[in-house]
Amino acid sequence: MSIFNEKQIEAMRSGKYICSKCGRVMEFEDEWEDTLVCSCGHNIGLDEYGCEGDEKYENLYSDENDGWDEDNPEGETYDEVCGELEDD
Ligand SMILES: [Zn+2]
Repeated sequence: MSIFNEKQIEAMRSGKYICSKCGRVMEFEDEWEDTLVCSCGHNIGLDEYGCEGDEKYENLYSDENDGWDEDNPEGETYDEVCGELEDD
């Protein structure tokens, strides 16, 4: 599921995806129509279209979920942490 931004909706209506670098019409890289390529060499995923330079978008996708817990790097369980605090 994805929420289309204004530029994506506009592009779907007009059938034209405009390159953010040079302003030319971009084309799909292949039949899957998930990547847009431009003759200037710029290419982006369809999901990224209209989102380039959007800080919210950058943050959303730079937050890699690799399972590492920043607050608990040692992998201690909640009980272990509490046990140490109570042992006074
Ligand atoms: Zn271009």
